[in-house]
Order: sequence, then structure tokens, then C-alpha cells
Amino acid sequence: MSITTLDSTALAEVRARFDGDVLEEGDAGYDDARKLFNAMFDRKPRLVVRCTGAPDVVAGVALARETQLPLAIKGGGHSVNGHASCDDGILLDLSPMKEITVDADAHTVRAQAGVNWGEFDAATTAHGLATTGGRVTTTGIAGLTLGTGSGWLERLHGYTADNLISADVVTADGRIVHASEDENPDLFWGLRGGGGNFGVVVNFEYRLHEVPPLVLGGMLLWPFERAGEIMRAYRALLADAPDELGGAVAILTAPPAPFVPPELHGQHVVGVVATVFMEPERGAELIEPLRDLEPLVDIVAPMPYTAVQQLLDPMNPHGHKHYWKAELVEELSDELIDATIAHEERMGRSHSLLLLQPLGGRIARIPDDASAITARHAAWAAHCIGEWETPEETEGELAWVRAWADVIAPFRMAGVPMTFSADTGDERVRATYGDEKYARLVALKDKYDPENLFRLNQNIKPSSARS
Ligand SMILES: Cc1cc2nc3c(=O)[nH]c(=O)nc-3n(C[C@H](O)[C@H](O)[C@H](O)COP(=O)(O)OP(=O)(O)OC[C@H]3O[C@@H](n4cnc5c(N)ncnc54)[C@H](O)[C@@H]3O)c2cc1C
Repeated sequence: MSITTLDSTALAEVRARFDGDVLEEGDAGYDDARKLFNAMFDRKPRLVVRCTGAPDVVAGVALARETQLPLAIKGGGHSVNGHASCDDGILLDLSPMKEITVDADAHTVRAQAGVNWGEFDAATTAHGLATTGGRVTTTGIAGLTLGTGSGWLERLHGYTADNLISADVVTADGRIVHASEDENPDLFWGLRGGGGNFGVVVNFEYRLHEVPPLVLGGMLLWPFERAGEIMRAYRALLADAPDELGGAVAILTAPPAPFVPPELHGQHVVGVVATVFMEPERGAELIEPLRDLEPLVDIVAPMPYTAVQQLLDPMNPHGHKHYWKAELVEELSDELIDATIAHEERMGRSHSLLLLQPLGGRIARIPDDASAITARHAAWAAHCIGEWETPEETEGELAWVRAWADVIAPFRMAGVPMTFSADTGDERVRATYGDEKYARLVALKDKYDPENLFRLNQNIKPSSARS
């Protein structure tokens, strides 16, 4: 069948293969299904399959093989690089796949690939349980987990992928393969950090942890002029902190929110997001040194874990434009703090951020060979996040984020989680893993996807696709 010249008979035959809706341009729901979180991309697939379960995914993979059309996989649609849709290809939209089952006694959860973090957290915290998850609730569990998965709980419980117990994967040849430490352990190793390179994951099973009913979360803000002092104080606080303390320090534009003094509205400020996963009274003692620095805004308060997870939602609605770079560093040196502060000069005044995020804790205690994830000894992640709304801002924001590459170059170490970055080139992907792990991932790609059917991602090319 040639789907590129699809007539109504052929389309009817294709539709009959799927339980879910098969949409083309003009159909109701097509635009919603193809839409990505990042408004930098407006891609128009030839067909969108609204997958209802594993059989639809198997049929979709077969259709892509048969037609040789590009194949895009969409979980939550948050990929900053726009890979979760495509032009003139087939988009498997997994977002209708929402089943989620918690085993509270075993402290595990099984979730289908269309679940997002808001839905995941709601289901698990109903049992007083959680695992490390994305910091914006509309982000999908699928892309985030496969790309490593960083979240507020990571110093206590490791990255999201560190909490993966098993996955069911539709491979390029149409099989459904179970991957865990005991079954297909090579695939399980690569899924954790290797992104969507090896197949379409339809089910994820995670380990859960108890969270107190109330924890401490919120933000403290100071004028930008105090950035050096605040960043150093935050670094000192983290140096001896228990794993329960996490968060980040950032340079951002103060929003015109009621809790922000009017003189700060629209001004660059320095802020700390504080998250402390212990009883709030003990947590408050821990962050006392920050409060001693007399912030102009202090909205840190006891709240449920789900509220901590929603802290950044207001700043991250659908439809903004995004372009990001990130690197890992071995230490947060005075020089890096000063370089970060100097880069503020060209930062826009809408939603962009320079963000320093502490790592360590449990992340660093997991052996390096446990999964494809690298650079576990990194102490901090440094992010340059361009986020804006109008086309007029685009050129300046892109230039500002690109210029940050030179700022961070003297400090960066090899390896950065795939989910952090909009960069997708071969060299970048290889550098993420280092030579040894990269060679292992190429061997895995040769085994599970030798024709590179799954290539709309931060692609690990199989040997057949190398010149
Ligand atoms: C506002 C915002 C906040 C974010 N916060 C965090 C954060 O706190 N921590 C963090 O680590 N990252 C974060 N990210 C990055 C995010 O984790 C990645 O963009 C991730 O890919 C999003 O997952 P998704 O399912 O929404 O992605 P999608 O865009 O749907 O998918 C991204 C890619 O993942 C692959 N993929 C998706 N689903 C599957 C599947 N079922 N099987 C195989 N491959 C699949 C495909 O290659 C796809 O192109 C954030 C992104 C945004 C935009």
C-alpha cells in the first residue's frame, strides 16, 4: 500500500486496523493530537493514531514499517526538541493510554505510557506514596523516564529511571518485550537513560516511596543584586544537607503575582525553590539560614507533595516557545557562579531562567554501570532555559541560549540527561554517554532496531545507518 497517495479505500483499510481513532488533517481532534507543548514546532503528520493500548501501538509500528513513513511517538508532548511529532509521517499519540494501578502494599505502580506526572502523583499520593517525577505536572512519564528523569525527589530517591522496575516495549519487529533486571536485562539497561531509541514503551512499572502528608515547599526571592551572595549561601547549605533537601537557585523575572512586591514586577531577581521532604518543623530548621538572609518574598510553607509538584505549573502553560541548554558540573565554583550572573545581562524579561540545581545524594550512590545514565558524580546541573511568548523575542532568546554554550564550556563535564537539552546532534548524543556506554547502546540498537525505525529522538544510530 502506498499511504502517500492514500485514497478513501486505503484509509478505511488502515482505520480498520486500529481500535483508536486514525486522524488526518481536517479531522476533528487532529490539531489537538498533533500539538506539542513547545510552540516552536508546528508539525503536520500524514496520520495521527490515537492509540488506546498495546495492540494499536503494534499496528502503528507495522504501518510505519510497511509504508516507510517517518514515525513519531508522543507521550506527554513535552520534548523541547519537537521530536514528538513529524511532518508527513505517522504520529502514534499515546496520550489516551491512561491506566494506572497502584499496589500500595508492594510500594509499586504500573502506568501506561500516556499518563502525565499530575495524574501519576494523584494516584500514588492517595496511598501516601510517590517516586521522583517531573517538575511540571503536564509532562509525560514516558519521555521523562526514558531520558533519565530529574525531579525534586531525586537526591532522596534517585532519578526517575532509577526507580523503574520493568517496562513492556513494542520493538521494531512488532513484538511486545518485557524488560527488567531478570528479563531482557540488556534492554532494561538501555531504556534507563537511552530515550526512545529501542522501541515504544507501553507500560512502566515503578518503585514507590513513602512521603509525609505535609512537606515544605515554595520559593524565596531577593533582588538580583544579591545573586552572588544568595547562590553562595545556597551552595553552603547544600554542602552538608541531608538528601531530603533539594530545590534549585535561579535568576528569573519576577512575575506580577500578588505575593511579589510591585517594585520587583518584571525585574530580574534571584530565587531559591526550597523543597524539604521531611516533617515541616524540621524542614523549617534546615532552611533557616536562607530565611536569615531576609528575602523580599517567602512563600515557603507546609504543603502536600502534590502541591510541591505543582509549584512551577503557573510558569509553564502550553503554547510558550522553548529553547534550552544544560550541562552537568563537578562543583559549583565561585567562577561558575560569577559567569552565570554575568550571563543575566542578555536574558529576556518574560519566562527565561538561569538555573543551578543540586544533584548528589542517592543519584551518586547508584553504580555507574547500573544503566545507560552517566555522570552520577556530577554535583550540580546548570541550565540556561529560554522560554518566551512572542515571535519578536525569538531571535534574542535563541542567541542568548546559544551564547551560554561558551559561558559553560570551561566548567562542563561529559554527560547530561537527554531530557535536559534541546541539542540532538550525533556528537552531543555520543558525549552524553561516553565512548564505552555509547558502544554498548549502538550494539543494543543493532539488536532491537537495526533499521533505525525509531529515529525521531536523540538518536543512537545503528551500525547500518553509519557511513
Ligand atoms: C515545561 C517542562 C518541564 C520539564 N521538566 C522536567 C523535569 O523536571 N525533569 C526532567 O527530567 N525533564 C523535564 N522536562 C523535559 C522532559 O522530561 C522531556 O522533554 C521528556 O521527553 C518529556 O516527556 P513526554 O512524554 O512529555 O515527551 P514527548 O515529547 O511526548 O516525547 C519525547 C520523546 O520521548 C520518546 N517517547 C515518548 N514516549 C515514548 C514511549 N512510550 N516509548 C518510547 N519513546 C517514547 C520519543 O522519542 C519522543 O520524541 C521538562 C520539559 C518541559 C517542556
